[in-house]
Amino acid sequence: MTSTQARHTRRAVLQSAIDAGARCATADPDLWFRTDGEPQITWQARRAEAIRVCTGCPARAACEELALRDGDGNHRVDDMVRGGLSGSELAAARAIQAERLAAAVDADRDTEGRLLDDLAVELRTQATLNPDGHRNGGRLRQDENRAEQNLRIRALAAGIGQIRTARRARAGWGVAA
Ligand code: SF4
Repeated sequence: MTSTQARHTRRAVLQSAIDAGARCATADPDLWFRTDGEPQITWQARRAEAIRVCTGCPARAACEELALRDGDGNHRVDDMVRGGLSGSELAAARAIQAERLAAAVDADRDTEGRLLDDLAVELRTQATLNPDGHRNGGRLRQDENRAEQNLRIRALAAGIGQIRTARRARAGWGVAA
């Protein structure tokens, strides 16, 4: 694999590490986010607990890197923890690594574009397949084929929707745009 190819697959590798090891996957997700109007005193205690959980998380490094690539964190708003860092710590790390992260985000977007194309082709293929093409096995088998095809189509459409929403959000559009 070339270094360019490695760069383009990096995001998927990071996400796999998180999917496999995230400690927050089995915890209350609200722990990592300050609620609207939450007093600093209670948020501080929850933030410390979230950072404690992150510190022992096997996916911490991957999570921090994805948070930085996603642009999480804000100097002025203390409202989250991701990858073991508070929002302001993420913002500071992003500022220090701005050049490297800009290149990484560009590579992520290229990868997303290709994935989006592949998913769209697969969706078109699935949508035009005739689920009754194999008539061996009778009516029951045809119903199963249709159900499986519908599941695949829904999964593909959800994947496309997720990527498009993320791209729109990064471009500064609202989720519903
Ligand atoms: S480092 Fe923290 S936020 Fe990231 S996956 Fe682990 S527990 Fe979740």
